[in-house]
Amino acid sequence: MPSNPNLPARRAQSLILNRRRALGLMGGAAALSLPFAPLVQAKAPLLGRQNTSFYRFMLGKFEVTIVRDGAAILSGPYPTFGADQFEEDVHELLTANHVPLKKFELPYAPVVINTGNELVLFDSGNGSTRRPDSGHLVEGLKLAGYTPEQIDVVIITHCHPDHIGGLTESGTPVFPNARYVCGEVEYDFWSPKELLDADAGLARRARSMQENVVPLAEKMSFLKDEGEALPGIRAIASPGHTPGHLAYHVESEGQRLMIWGDAIVHYVISVQRPEWPLAADMDKDVAGRSRRKLLEMAAADKIAVTGYHLPFPALGFVEPYEDAFRFVPAGYQFNL
Ligand SMILES: [Zn+2]
Repeated sequence: MPSNPNLPARRAQSLILNRRRALGLMGGAAALSLPFAPLVQAKAPLLGRQNTSFYRFMLGKFEVTIVRDGAAILSGPYPTFGADQFEEDVHELLTANHVPLKKFELPYAPVVINTGNELVLFDSGNGSTRRPDSGHLVEGLKLAGYTPEQIDVVIITHCHPDHIGGLTESGTPVFPNARYVCGEVEYDFWSPKELLDADAGLARRARSMQENVVPLAEKMSFLKDEGEALPGIRAIASPGHTPGHLAYHVESEGQRLMIWGDAIVHYVISVQRPEWPLAADMDKDVAGRSRRKLLEMAAADKIAVTGYHLPFPALGFVEPYEDAFRFVPAGYQFNL
């Protein structure tokens, strides 16, 4: 038994007993062999929610990195999702999928693809103009090993502020060496200045368009519905959320990934009930049809999918389920 020569024997014995009590189930020998250090150590501070910054994997010869721009916590999902349904029915679906009823997370997950020739970014995050825990794309890129100067091409799925807000900062392009790709229908809808006089929601979005996209038009190419943005990267028309929303099909050496942007937003509701409306969908019927079309493609061809608002790392697969589909989050498939 260890003893401290500076303490009277009984006091030392009492300390040992207290230590044994304090150490609870720890074996007697182990407890007694500990030195006489203070029992109370500084507590580690709570660090807040864990926020993974990026997730990287290979798709054929393409290196894909999904970067976290941030996430908003909002009220809902009902009636943001499924407003034309009975609340109980939406809640029943959520409960069956272990999803809380009062709050939901809306993450933002831009995608970077190194094709070997070019570094391509899909959507730019919120920039400095949006919700509190967002606009972290540049920070995330740096953690992932990239500088904004390295981005060669920015592909825009659609022109909502959470996708284009990070293109410029105080009037300066954030990706100074990039060229841009945007859907022609999408650009033509959002770019007229008259939209600034529209109702509040539309005007706010039109302002973001004028600030972030219109000034870059000279360096922009405009894609038709099934146009090729780059070799291996092809648009899939998926209107409804916005008039010219484009999803993308990415393929390298037979490996495939669908980047579905905001065509499908909630990983449970939008996938299991594709016809249930999302408040932000500008044409709700068309959006429902686009959702079902993309989900059918992804399920039939077993294509990996990533969505801008899926739970991070926003990656998985789609399986047929009941009358629609279900989202199967990525396991370790991409780590092998
Ligand atoms: Zn969005």
